[in-house]
Amino acid sequence: MNSYKADLHCHSYFSDGALSPAALLEKALAVQVQCLALTDHDTTAGSKELRNLADPEQITIVDGIELSVRWKMHDIHIVGLNIDPSAPALMTLLEKQGLQRTQRAEFIATALENLGIVECLQKAREIAGQGSIGRPHFAQVLINEGKVRTMQAAFTQYLGRGKKAYVPTSWISIEEAVSGIVQAGGQAIIAHPLKYKLTRTKLHALIEAFKNVGGVAIEVVSGEMNVAQIGEMVGLTQRFDLLASTGSDYHSDEYSIIGLGQQRPLPTNCKPIWELWKS
Ligand code: AMP
Ligand code: MN
Ligand code: MN
Ligand code: MN
Repeated sequence: MNSYKADLHCHSYFSDGALSPAALLEKALAVQVQCLALTDHDTTAGSKELRNLADPEQITIVDGIELSVRWKMHDIHIVGLNIDPSAPALMTLLEKQGLQRTQRAEFIATALENLGIVECLQKAREIAGQGSIGRPHFAQVLINEGKVRTMQAAFTQYLGRGKKAYVPTSWISIEEAVSGIVQAGGQAIIAHPLKYKLTRTKLHALIEAFKNVGGVAIEVVSGEMNVAQIGEMVGLTQRFDLLASTGSDYHSDEYSIIGLGQQRPLPTNCKPIWELWKS
């Protein structure tokens, strides 16, 4: 078991998380997280705020992001770590992603309004507040309107791939995401590889495509992944010569089964990504 306690994937209210960067920091310190990266969807605003708040004597902060990419009709998430959160190449990509998010929100709102939810866009925007708008905010509207009882049901009935209010989105490509992260001085990581429900053949193809454009790691441990799944991810790092990352993917106490820093430990038979950062 790796004894270094790192959580390199979580969310604040700058995307679809519930907490401020300050509250996340407090939680991380309370559970003795030694290294923390805030990886909001398509924004670095929270990560910058976190860096300014944290005392480097107490905790190591790594600047992060989670980028949505489109790969062969699948929405895949690429985490960028150790980035310069203001790098111009990254900012250009984030502007594009922001436009896609706004446009998609309008389409989702129209689809849901056609299903009888009035003023859907305004309601979702209110919930998103200053954060980058996403499907979880629409899921919350569906819950508030009594259409579904859980976030999960909102996705399986309305917002998930192929459902009534699913809108395919022209996210940036894997190549654009990885090269933006690399140009920002960071490392690109495939987030939660088992969340996409890809066949093993397709998952291997995704990893090959990702490696070919400069990706270096996968999340070996993510959220509630079990021991067998973690073992399988270790196997992938060995097969494809990848580094290993780890994160809770914590969003809020209400919706996350695994708390901040509470994911299973990273096994010792893989190479942790932070070995690159320790000089
Ligand atoms: P978006 O980036 O707007 O497409 O929203 C994706 C986010 O929705 C993910 O980061 C998760 O936080 C959340 N999400 C995706 N699928 C589900 C699901 N089946 N149940 C609950 N939350 C989900
Ligand atoms: Mn999310
Ligand atoms: Mn994700
Ligand atoms: Mn995430």
